[in-house]
Amino acid sequence: MAEPPPRRLLAQLRELMARGAAPLSAVARLVATEMVAEVASIYVARPGDILELAATEGLNPDAVGRTRLRVGEGIVGLCAAAGAVMNLPDAQNHPGFAYRPETGEEPYASMLAVPVRRAGRILGVLAVQNRAPRHYSAPEVEEAETVAMLLAELLAQGGAAPTAPEGVGAAMPRVFSGLSLAPGILLGPVVTAGGFRLTGPVLTDAPEAEIVRLEAAATRMRRRLDEMLDDGRLAPDAGASREVLEAYRLVAEDAGWLRRVTEMIRSGLAAEAAVQRVTAELHERMRRIADPYLRERLADVEDLAGRLLGELAGASPPAVPPGAILIARRLGPAELLDWHARGIGGVVIEEASPAGHAAILARALGLAALGGVRGALAAANPGDEAVLDADSASLILRPDEDVRRICLRAAETRAALLAGQAGLRARPAVTADGTGVTLMLNLGLALELDQLDRTGADGIGLFRTEIAMLARGTILDTAEQAAFYARVMDAAGVRPVVFRTLDLGSDKLLPGDEAPEEANPAMGWRSLRVGLDRPAVLRRQLRALLLAAAGRPLSVMFPMVATVAEFRAARALLDAEARRVRPAPERLEVGTMLEVPALAYQLGPLLEEADFLSIGSNDLMQFFFAADRGSPALAARYDLLSPPVFDLLDQILAAAGKARNGQGVRVSLCGEAAGRPLEAMVLTALGLTTLSMPASGLLAVKALLAGVDLPAFRAVLAELRRTAAGSPSLRDPILTWARDHGLTP
Ligand code: PEP
Ligand code: MG
Repeated sequence: MAEPPPRRLLAQLRELMARGAAPLSAVARLVATEMVAEVASIYVARPGDILELAATEGLNPDAVGRTRLRVGEGIVGLCAAAGAVMNLPDAQNHPGFAYRPETGEEPYASMLAVPVRRAGRILGVLAVQNRAPRHYSAPEVEEAETVAMLLAELLAQGGAAPTAPEGVGAAMPRVFSGLSLAPGILLGPVVTAGGFRLTGPVLTDAPEAEIVRLEAAATRMRRRLDEMLDDGRLAPDAGASREVLEAYRLVAEDAGWLRRVTEMIRSGLAAEAAVQRVTAELHERMRRIADPYLRERLADVEDLAGRLLGELAGASPPAVPPGAILIARRLGPAELLDWHARGIGGVVIEEASPAGHAAILARALGLAALGGVRGALAAANPGDEAVLDADSASLILRPDEDVRRICLRAAETRAALLAGQAGLRARPAVTADGTGVTLMLNLGLALELDQLDRTGADGIGLFRTEIAMLARGTILDTAEQAAFYARVMDAAGVRPVVFRTLDLGSDKLLPGDEAPEEANPAMGWRSLRVGLDRPAVLRRQLRALLLAAAGRPLSVMFPMVATVAEFRAARALLDAEARRVRPAPERLEVGTMLEVPALAYQLGPLLEEADFLSIGSNDLMQFFFAADRGSPALAARYDLLSPPVFDLLDQILAAAGKARNGQGVRVSLCGEAAGRPLEAMVLTALGLTTLSMPASGLLAVKALLAGVDLPAFRAVLAELRRTAAGSPSLRDPILTWARDHGLTP
């Protein structure tokens, strides 16, 4: 961790400020001297989203008051627009660099630009430059950020140089694109979590009194956490996990990070400013840590710091307007439940991927959700209006009138569509030509079980058993697991349930798991591989499933099977447990996911032994195209609706049809693609008539299939495959055909 900012710089700045209106030029001179920089410049916000050079040490003094940049223009403008630090060894060759001859900045290669922010507004930018190309070190960045905090105080007082009080960019619309975590579209006011806005003084003359204040606030925070832990609202079956909260409380009691805050206070910062600096450091560290468990724990500290700031401010949590859009940097499961109970309608999480806990919970809670949106929290002000369009994976802050109107219309259309689809709930899924299709759900939490009735699904085609354990932060013991699985079977009644055994590893790690050092954990020691090498946990789970069935039919499938031998070994474990558990299930079916391409070339022997196959298209596509499923950059690069995938699916279906002397073996598909209407139509045309999907897609898929004449579409698809054999995607012509036939995917 970086050293605390040198006391000398802080002390001198404090002295300057104590003299009343400290001239910005004196601050710039001090920064240049203390940071051994050839240039230190201060740009301040002027009305009309302009940043004006207000003081400089090192650039041409005549440029002061003359050099003006629009927000987004030049490195300084980009820093203000993004509200983020820019640390550039070769600034002049950055594509955003804007040359201003009057400044005389040609000789300076490296540049560090830090936003001057107060209460969520950008009041200016502090820029440091050096001749030699260099990347500024973490302690240097930290020093500049501390100075920026002080500058913010100075500028807000208005003494040094009058600024535009609303800052720059405050009213400008901002568009962010991210990853859709859960569908939905809404227009609502923004509430923020974790993005505490510092409004009080930054420096203190009485560090000991500040430390006393900090300790009192920490005590109050711990007491509130204890109350939360004892609150029945967060019962385990809400998936919210006493264990997650317990881990959280342990972090709260860990003195390490508070000691760091105390150190910062001793170096001259006020308590709030010190907590905020430590949080920023942690955030920076977190970005560099790959280990998911450590990241989670650091995230806990970050969340706790937010609570601590609330306690220091003596503020009770702000009221949440109904249908608000929560913007957070990271969010744990317990907190998301808390915010949900307070009435939010959607959530934007800067650092969430679709496979993360928060995303899983957001889907389960029916919240529209967006992830992977860097910079949204810094750019948003509580109370701003925003459009969250999770369907097209975008967030628009401070939308203009046209965008608002379009959003409201889209939300109305969506609501009407959903209302229309609700009428389909009780109807069987049948295509226009009379082909029956089985539509099942992918579930994983107890609180999602009501989706079975809400969607009228035919059953649960994929029950991801690891999800509840991830939400609880631990592997449940046999009795707890048996009770949980029995509850799932009870909810399903006569509808079938396919339980998938634990698919842990890679990004799905439990606290305390020893994750091996692997360059490619998705292809590493994970899932069934762990289950077979360390069978105790898998056997315990299989026993729990058999106990839960208690004489009822039971379907079990294994994830990430790559060879027939692995399937056999897993099945042998299940058979061994089945010999012991009484009463035996009325019928025991054992299948496998097909997620590893190699398995498609072993279907002859495999299908002699497997009772069914479920194609996991999320992983299958990832391995087929060698494209990380979690990478936003690759998300749209390869298409399931493409000739090579169709050929692969044809081959799997043909082998399954011929298996067991022509009797055939059942095949279904349970990746996310099954829940997208256009994909579902194509999969059905290829012969996949059992699809398992997220609840949010089921009625839309049913609605579209009801309008499809499969034989007519099959003929078109065959022709497209013949004429566009080398094409990377057939999506466009398929979409055109659907639209021409009155279908709205
Ligand atoms: C899949 O890989 O398609 C699948 C359904 O499993 P998961 O998304 O849980 O990896
Ligand atoms: Mg998978």
